[in-house]
Amino acid sequence: MFPRMLWPRQLIHLRTDFFGLEMEINLSSHPLLFTLLGFLLGACLGSFLNVVVTRAPKGISVIRPASRCPHCSVLIPWTLNFPVFGWIFLRGRTKCCANKIPLRYLGVELFTGLAFGWSFHCFHVQPDLGMLLASCAFAWLMIGVVAVDAETMLIPDRFSIGGTFVGLGLCLYFPSIQGVVFHSFGAERMLSAIQCLLGILVGSGLLYWIGALASRVFGREALGEGDIKLLGCVGAFCGWKGAVFSIFGGSLLGCLLLLPCLLAQHLKSKKNSSAEDKFLGMEIPFGPYLSLAGIGYFFGLREWVDPWFKWLEYFPG
Ligand SMILES: [Zn+2]
Repeated sequence: MFPRMLWPRQLIHLRTDFFGLEMEINLSSHPLLFTLLGFLLGACLGSFLNVVVTRAPKGISVIRPASRCPHCSVLIPWTLNFPVFGWIFLRGRTKCCANKIPLRYLGVELFTGLAFGWSFHCFHVQPDLGMLLASCAFAWLMIGVVAVDAETMLIPDRFSIGGTFVGLGLCLYFPSIQGVVFHSFGAERMLSAIQCLLGILVGSGLLYWIGALASRVFGREALGEGDIKLLGCVGAFCGWKGAVFSIFGGSLLGCLLLLPCLLAQHLKSKKNSSAEDKFLGMEIPFGPYLSLAGIGYFFGLREWVDPWFKWLEYFPG
């Protein structure tokens, strides 16, 4: 019997002692409560993710020192650090010196909460501990990459390389993440690890070659090393099909989102001739679009994307 078939029941069965009255809550019979629990856990881990996003590019420890106001260095009490609600309660301004708290803090906490809430909801429908852990870990990593790359144009290795190893470890332990269902436990793990490695190699390798060719054509570096390592992480969680989709889906998403900006800039450039040159020469981070496409694939687009790869079966070998 697989351990993953047994764990869910134990995981969602809570026993509490409330004012001497022993209570048993079986969360499996309260889907809304279970989803809410996922949201709260996600929001708390999103709050921690904000700390990682702020400190990782500077090489500062994410544990010490405790959170301080970036403007006046006053220690932030835990009551004001409450995820999502803290930002709303303070209306986006610090209590100590009334300076603006970036909207990114609310966005990261809210979207991590929503992703965890959705994962917990799906887990309730289909109890699969591996998929629950993988979807929470993948969403946490990718939301972090969106925030850190958009802000600093850097993807720290702890997200890309660290995330790749987390994905590999999870796929080794929970073969269901790669959609592998076999009868022999050993073979199941082996096949899942191979699929995961294939995802890492196809993702990073394909993006490396696209970047190398684009650099030749445009005469300057088109893709950063961070993007190549990031796509290894996407491949580890999503497999090679997900990695290929993320490259093309991410490019399409980038074009769709940047096109209105380009048009607006073009209209502006009629007044100011240097504005268009400035936009065309601008460096745009690719990581956020790759990450969003990866999240899209993992959280539902997979069923729509995978049949597109069916044509590969017609190739011999
Ligand atoms: Zn302050």
